[in-house]
Amino acid sequence: MSEFTHDIPTEPTPRWPVLGHEPIVAELARSLRTGHVHHAYLFAGPAGIGRTTLAYAFAAALLCEAPVEARPCGQCRACQRVARRVHPDVTRVSLEQEREDAKLVSIDRIRELRANLSLRPLEGAWRVAIVDDAERLSRDAADALLKTLEEPPPYAVLVLIAEDANAVPETIRSRCRTYQLRPLPPAVVEAALVARGASPDRAARLAKLARGRIAEALRLAEDADALDRYERQVAEVVAAMSEPLAAIGFARRATDRYRRGQRVAVQQLLRLAAELWRDAVWLAADPAASIVHEEARGALLELARRRGLAGTVAGLAATLQCLADLEANVQARLALDAVAVVWTETAG
Ligand SMILES: [Zn+2]
Repeated sequence: MSEFTHDIPTEPTPRWPVLGHEPIVAELARSLRTGHVHHAYLFAGPAGIGRTTLAYAFAAALLCEAPVEARPCGQCRACQRVARRVHPDVTRVSLEQEREDAKLVSIDRIRELRANLSLRPLEGAWRVAIVDDAERLSRDAADALLKTLEEPPPYAVLVLIAEDANAVPETIRSRCRTYQLRPLPPAVVEAALVARGASPDRAARLAKLARGRIAEALRLAEDADALDRYERQVAEVVAAMSEPLAAIGFARRATDRYRRGQRVAVQQLLRLAAELWRDAVWLAADPAASIVHEEARGALLELARRRGLAGTVAGLAATLQCLADLEANVQARLALDAVAVVWTETAG
């Protein structure tokens, strides 16, 4: 049952409160009209491209009080409560609900979800459970979820969300209908930003920065300094990649921040560094290559020229290793010093 579908819709795409993902929306809407709703779905794709929004839109379509072809109407009490995320028949489980340093969704969350799904729907015909971070279930949590997937109550619909479908245990994945969601085309993101009042120039810059992640684009659009701050961050990371002293300073500051609990921020900086290194690798292979961070092309070209292909590949590998080490709970200082050493070594 696990398959990736990219059907061309034969009917006009219904108006769901979702940007993009038209073929998937069309197919979900069709399954509602034809009464072929599955008990379990897996929405896979990068964070921020609308996976959760799609899950809630589907929940609204299931619970909406309008005639089936007009669902979700967006107007009825059910639609509005789903939109406000207070509908009693929709529950959501995520890593966010765990302790701050938790890396896995615990069995307690899944037990709550199972208890919830064991009750008949309070208002509609369905009970919908959204499971975020489905690739981060503890072993116990995955086993418990599997029990529900093996014998779902007739009114239950589970929507699992994951970055990578293949990281979800096969036993779980095989019981889900899988949809692969892709980042949105920049033009879609740009249009959404303009519709919300951004100037065309700013919308274009933000859309480029968000790279198809609509949630990220909207978040950045709210924040007047976001673009400047981001451009400063790129400059800081490029400097650390290029100059030994800057690399050491970068590692020290990042270690401090990591120890002060700013783990996510440090990981984001390292992911940015990995993107920049990847660009440098491309440029080392071909100075005219098209790259993600056009804004840093000059500095990255210089880096690529100085270090060559092997040196830039080493920089990228060390950065990815550092991210993996932090994930594996290696001491932050060791992991960050190690990456600074490689960045510095190849800087000569
Ligand atoms: Zn409705």
